[in-house]
Amino acid sequence: MATINRRDFVKAVGLVSAAGAVGFPMISRAKPAARVVVVGGGFGGATAAKYTKLYVPDAEVVLVEKDTEYYTCPFSNEVLGGERNIDQIRFGYGGLAARGIEVVHDEVVELDAEKKRIKTKGGKTLDFDFCVVSPGISFRPDAIEGYDEAAAQKMPHAWKAGEQTMLLRKQLEAMEDGGVVMIAAPPNPFRCPPGPYERASQIAHYLKHHKPKSKLIIMDAKNKFSKQGLFTAGWDEYYEGIIEWRSAANDGKVLAVDADKGLLMTEFEEHRPAVANVVPAQQAGSLAINAGLTEPSGWCLVDQRTFESRKAEGVFVIGDACMAGAMPKSGYSANSQGKIAAASIAARATGAQAPEPSYINTCYSLVTPEYGISVSMVYRVNQEGIIQGVPNAGGLSPSEAPDWVRRREAEWARSWYDNIVADLFT
Ligand SMILES: Cc1cc2nc3c(=O)[nH]c(=O)nc-3n(C[C@H](O)[C@H](O)[C@H](O)COP(=O)(O)OP(=O)(O)OC[C@H]3O[C@@H](n4cnc5c(N)ncnc54)[C@H](O)[C@@H]3O)c2cc1C
Repeated sequence: MATINRRDFVKAVGLVSAAGAVGFPMISRAKPAARVVVVGGGFGGATAAKYTKLYVPDAEVVLVEKDTEYYTCPFSNEVLGGERNIDQIRFGYGGLAARGIEVVHDEVVELDAEKKRIKTKGGKTLDFDFCVVSPGISFRPDAIEGYDEAAAQKMPHAWKAGEQTMLLRKQLEAMEDGGVVMIAAPPNPFRCPPGPYERASQIAHYLKHHKPKSKLIIMDAKNKFSKQGLFTAGWDEYYEGIIEWRSAANDGKVLAVDADKGLLMTEFEEHRPAVANVVPAQQAGSLAINAGLTEPSGWCLVDQRTFESRKAEGVFVIGDACMAGAMPKSGYSANSQGKIAAASIAARATGAQAPEPSYINTCYSLVTPEYGISVSMVYRVNQEGIIQGVPNAGGLSPSEAPDWVRRREAEWARSWYDNIVADLFT
C-alpha cells in the first residue's frame, strides 16, 4: 500500500513523540495519596511511571527496576551490525527521578495482589493502591533442549540488550571470514516480530563489508514472518548469496543444542555454525508467572481497555508480558499501553472518567543503514479487545519504491528512536 496518507502517517509517528500520538489529557485535579508501584523500568514501565506522575502529580509513584541502566533492544541490532555503539543504546533513570518518581534499584521477588504489597530481594516491602507490572519476557525452559543460562553464554540470545548484545558482537568480530552465522528464530508470539529478520540484515551488512566470504542462515520455527516480502526484496538487492532463510517446513526449527560442542539440532540435521544466535520461545517475565498473573499460555490476560489484570484487581500488566489483542509485542506498543494504564489509574485515583483509548504502533526495520521499511497501525478497542480499527491509518511500506523512499524511512526510524527514548527517560 503506497498512499500519501500512509507516508504522512508514518512520518508523523516517526517525527512526533509517542507522547502526543496517544492523546490522553493530563488530569490536573488530582487527589493526593494514590500510591502507585511500577515494576520494571523498560519501555512499558518507564512510560507508565512517567505518565502516572504527569496525570496525577501528587500521587506517590515508585519505580522498582533491578538494573541501574537500561539498554534498549531497539537499535541493538545496529550494535551487532557495527553501525552503533553500545553506549548509544544505554539509558539511566535520573530523568524520571527528577520528575519526582522514586526510583528503587532492586528486584521484586513477591507481588501479593490481595494485600497490595510487593517485596524485594533487598528486603523492602512496598504497599500500593495500584501496581503496574511490565517485566518483559522470559524464555520457556522447555523450548529448546539443552538451552539454559550456561548455554546462553556460548550461544547468546541477545534478546535482552546489553551484555548479551556485546557477547554476540564479539563472537561476530572474532569469527573468521568464511564462517557461517546461524540465527534460530522463535515461534509466535514473541518480542518484536520483525526483530530476527532485521538482525539478519544487520549482521549480513557487517559480513558483506568485513567478512565477505561468510554466510548467514536463519533457522526458523515458523513458516512465514513479519514484513517477509519487504525483507526478502531487500535481501535480494543487498545480500544475495549471504542470507538464507529456512522455514519450519524446510527443517528450520531448532529443537536442541549442545552448546559445548557448538551444535544446533533440527529434526533431520545437525549444524555446527561458527556463531550461533539462539532465540528460544518466550513467555511473560518470571515475576508475572510467580505472582500468578499468567494463563497456561504463559502470558497475562488483561482488560484491553485499561490493562488491568484479569486475575488481580488494582494490578495492571503492560508490555510484552500481556496479550493485547492485535498489537504486537514491541517497545512502541508497550509505550502506548503504559500511557493507557497511567490514564486508567489516574481515572480511578481521581474519580474521573477515563478517555476512550486509542493505541499506536510502528515497527521500523533497517535492511541497510539507508534502507528502512516499516509496518504501522492505529488500534481501537471493541468488545473483543484491541483491533486494527482505523481505516487508512498505517499499513506496510510500499513493495516497490525508489531509493529515496527507503532512505527516508531509515531516517524516520532513527528519528522514532530518538523521540521514544526521550519520551521514556526524560
Ligand atoms: C533485537 C530487538 C529489536 C527490537 N526492536 C524494536 C523496535 O525497533 N521497535 C520496537 O517498538 N520494539 C522493538 N523491540 C521490542 C522491545 O524491546 C520490547 O517489546 C520492549 O522492550 C517491551 O517492553 P517491556 O516494558 O514489556 O519490557 P522491557 O523493556 O524488557 O522492560 C522490562 C524491565 O523490567 C525489569 N524487570 C524484570 N523483572 C523485574 C523484577 N522482578 N524486579 C525489578 N525489575 C524487573 C527488567 O530489568 C527490564 O528493565 C525489539 C526487541 C528486540 C529483541
